[in-house]
This record gives sequence, structure tokens and C-alpha cells, in this order.
Amino acid sequence: MTDRYAVIGNPIEQSKSPLIHSAFAQVTGQDIDYTKLLAPLGGFAQAVGAFRAAGGRGMNVTAPFKLDAFAYATDLAPSAQMAGAVNAMKFEGDKVYAENFDGVGLVRDLVHNLLCPIQGRRVLILGSGGATRGALLPLLAEAPAEVVIVNRTVAKAQELADLAHRHHNGRVTVRGMGYADVGEAFDVVLNATSASLTAELPPLPVSAFALGCLAYDLTYGKGLTPFLKLARQSGVTRLADGVGMLAEQAAEAFEWWRGVRPDTTAVIERITVPLA
Ligand code: NDP
Repeated sequence: MTDRYAVIGNPIEQSKSPLIHSAFAQVTGQDIDYTKLLAPLGGFAQAVGAFRAAGGRGMNVTAPFKLDAFAYATDLAPSAQMAGAVNAMKFEGDKVYAENFDGVGLVRDLVHNLLCPIQGRRVLILGSGGATRGALLPLLAEAPAEVVIVNRTVAKAQELADLAHRHHNGRVTVRGMGYADVGEAFDVVLNATSASLTAELPPLPVSAFALGCLAYDLTYGKGLTPFLKLARQSGVTRLADGVGMLAEQAAEAFEWWRGVRPDTTAVIERITVPLA
């Protein structure tokens, strides 16, 4: 019997998840049907309930429902607890298991696809929203030399740094600050703000880009964003967007649901928008 999965969001038309999961199903020989589900704002629980009642086995969750999914879940994985948000659910009877694979997807893209090890590196993350929260523990697990979180609303960066420090038992230094206080250079600079969605540029000093660093914009499919343009103009030659992260978090969910890990290479090639 064909097992049903879906991605739920609002809007949802733009989602690449059906394309990605259908490709994964094809290469792994899994019999699944994966669709887009548009839920009205305030209608998350009802839409998920109807999907489960119709035999749905699992869901990806995208904006603006990641917090609704957090509240809806019966069993939250540590990744979801730390992120305060859920991006994948698995339904088994009355149980709703919930995960957040964004952070592990990011790290897998950095380390395996882009061959950019985190261990011993100095990492700067721009933004203090859900994407940064989700990325922190997987990044810290790689034992970087230091992680600095920089945000427009400075208090949020500091709170998140304190939280990460506590969860990680203080083994790696994590600091939160405002853009004006970024005085050093970093080996990995991650733009986890939503600024690129509206072609805006966070006020990052160019001195933040160390020689030979990787500049990575978690936003994907926008070509050369203002952040990546700034990095290139500052002499950075290693640029990437979040397309690999998207594919890798999907692969994590697919493996969690189906017990088989798909290779992401072909999917990444297919959905990549050139950085030009
Ligand atoms: P949130 O809305 O939770 O957080 C947005 C963050 O961006 C906040 O820290 C906000 O700062 C900051 N910000 C917004 N505009 C600006 C600006 N003009 N200048 C400086 N800072 C700004 O978003 P998410 O964390 O959920 O997502 C962030 C990005 O990551 C999105 O573009 C999203 O598409 C991408 N993403 C990509 C994924 C992938 O698979 N590739 C997965 C998940 C997310 P403040 O706190 O001061 O308001």
C-alpha cells in the first residue's frame, strides 16, 4: 500500500519538498505519495488531524507552522526542544513524534557536501530566529573553536548564546552580540537571518570574513544574495546557499520515516539556482 506524506505550510506552492521526496522515493524504491498541504492560519491542528485520519504517516512542517507543530507533538526529540520548533513529524497511533532536522541538515551540507569541517573553526551565525536555534547544537557537536551569534535585536543573540552554552555544558564558548561589536574574522560565516528573502543586507562588517572562509546563506534559490555579494566583493571565493541544507534535512526525515537514506547529489543538482 502506498504510504502518504505531506508538507504543510501557508503559503505552500513554492515548496520543493514534494519534488525532493518523490526523487528520494524513486531512487530508494519506496512506495510513497508526498503532497503539499495548504492549511489556513489557525487551522494547523485540524488539517493535520484530517491528514492523520486519512492514513497519513508523516509530515514536514514549514512556515508559519513550526511552532504549532511543536505544541501539537506528543514526543519531542532534543533537536526540536532546543530549536523550540518542529520541521518533521511521524504519526504512530496516538503518538506524534517530532524532530527538527534543519540543524543536522546544515552541518551535513557543510561537512560532507562542501567539505568544510567545523572542528577547530571559528563560526559566526547571523540571526537569532528558528534556523539559528536549530543549528546551534549540531554545530557545537562538531567542536568548533568558538561560535558567535550576532543579531539586530542583541538581547535575543545573548539569550540564545546562554541557552546553547548551558545545553552544551560550556565545552565550546558561545557568545551573543550586536553587529557593531563584531571585531574579529571568522572561518565560517552563516547568514541565518531572513534578510535575503527581501534582498536586504544585515549590517555585517566585511572584516568578519577571514581569508579562505566559507560564506553560507541559509536562504536558498535566490542566486547571489546581498550577503553573498558582500562576501564576494570582500574577496571570499567559497560561497554557498542553503539548497544543500534543504536537501539534507529532507534526507534525514526520509530516513527517519522509511529506514533508508537517499543520496542527495542528484536532487541538489536539480534544485540548485546558480549563485550569479
Ligand atoms: P526567523 O523569522 O525565525 O528569524 C529571522 C532572523 O532574521 C531574526 O534574527 C531577525 O532579527 C533577522 N533579520 C530579519 N531581517 C533582517 C535584516 N534586514 N537585517 C538583519 N537581521 C534581520 O527566521 P528563520 O530563522 O526561521 O529563517 C531564517 C532564514 O533561514 C530564512 O531565510 C529561511 O528561509 C532560511 N532557512 C533555510 C532552511 C534551509 O533548509 N535551507 C531551513 C530553515 C530556514 P531580529 O531578531 O532582530 O528581528
